[in-house]
Amino acid sequence: MQRLFLSSPHMSGKEQEYIAEVFESNYIAPLGTFVDKFEESIKDYTGTSNALALSSATAGLHLALRVLGIGKDDIVLASTFTFIGSVSSILYQGATPVFIDSDESWNLSPLLLKKAIQELPQKPKALILTHLYGQMAKIDEIVAICKENNIYLIEDSAESLGASYKGQQSGTFGDLGVYSFNGNKILTTSGGGMLISDNKEWIEKAKFLSSQAKEPFLHYEHKEYGYNYRMSNVLASIGVAQMEVLEERVTRKREIFELYKREFSSIAEISFMPQIEESRGNRWLSTLLFDKTDPLEVVEALEGVDAESRPLWKPMHLQPLFGDAFSFVDGSAEEMYKKGLCLPSPTSASNEELMRVIKVIKKLCQ
Ligand SMILES: *Cc1c(COP(=O)(O)O)cnc(C)c1O
Repeated sequence: MQRLFLSSPHMSGKEQEYIAEVFESNYIAPLGTFVDKFEESIKDYTGTSNALALSSATAGLHLALRVLGIGKDDIVLASTFTFIGSVSSILYQGATPVFIDSDESWNLSPLLLKKAIQELPQKPKALILTHLYGQMAKIDEIVAICKENNIYLIEDSAESLGASYKGQQSGTFGDLGVYSFNGNKILTTSGGGMLISDNKEWIEKAKFLSSQAKEPFLHYEHKEYGYNYRMSNVLASIGVAQMEVLEERVTRKREIFELYKREFSSIAEISFMPQIEESRGNRWLSTLLFDKTDPLEVVEALEGVDAESRPLWKPMHLQPLFGDAFSFVDGSAEEMYKKGLCLPSPTSASNEELMRVIKVIKKLCQ
């Protein structure tokens, strides 16, 4: 019996062929044609005009804040119901995070966003918005609020590559967007990220900062400091192969979700993460809430059949790290965190294998 992970790497079969090409050319590092190809494939797929391949999505969010000039006197709003990588860059920049709760969509509440903007003593400079577990936040409303208030919108689409709203891809609604190719995401390069924007200047500035902010002199002149955040050509070649199967992966993730939904339809206490109207989530992880059963009991029972599961992300405003941060919350994310679970959603698993998970949960809850 093979362990069922939440979301494991799923190679297409083309990766090694492309890696071999990289080795033949000896452009192992730093950059090379596959980095360009990977960026092109993201541009083609998402319809954005500029893309920058990076070592991680966390790096992408950091660069986004840098190019927007966000620093120590600034407030950055963020979804509280998210993963730490979404918001740690706010601390890197010495700025002040303010967390916003979710609504019934599980994603950021536009109402609380408005409230935060009205009540904060200082105008926030940006919002980092997570599309949680691959489902779109109420992006239309959120874009409108940000525009009205002159607040930059950065989409954290680390979990939502391939998700769309009214046919438009996640990550392309805001001023800047970020995707992740970490090992557990819908596609992976073993580790990596992509920063996108329709603003060419920002992406060029981010490119400059991502490779040590070297002024164009042979002797390496520096007027400001940068980072070593670029992606290697080897990893980009994996990314190119992965992009070729993105649609297949989204389809399979959605099938897995439908399977769980169908199988648990008779269990009254179970509800699933919704998807807003006219959107198509990528269902990166199938996530659900239990009304009565303790999710930690489910985690333990699933371990018994060698299946990984995990509580929903612990909201940022409840993290010891952010103990004294401002937040606009009404208990929504906290309640979901206490009742919720992420189920194994690996695209490489068959329905038969997933039945292991289904049987255990049915037995516990029925
Ligand atoms: C995974 C993840 C990140 C970080 O991505 P890395 O590529 O691992 O840096 C950021 N935000 C969210 C919501 C994530 O799930």
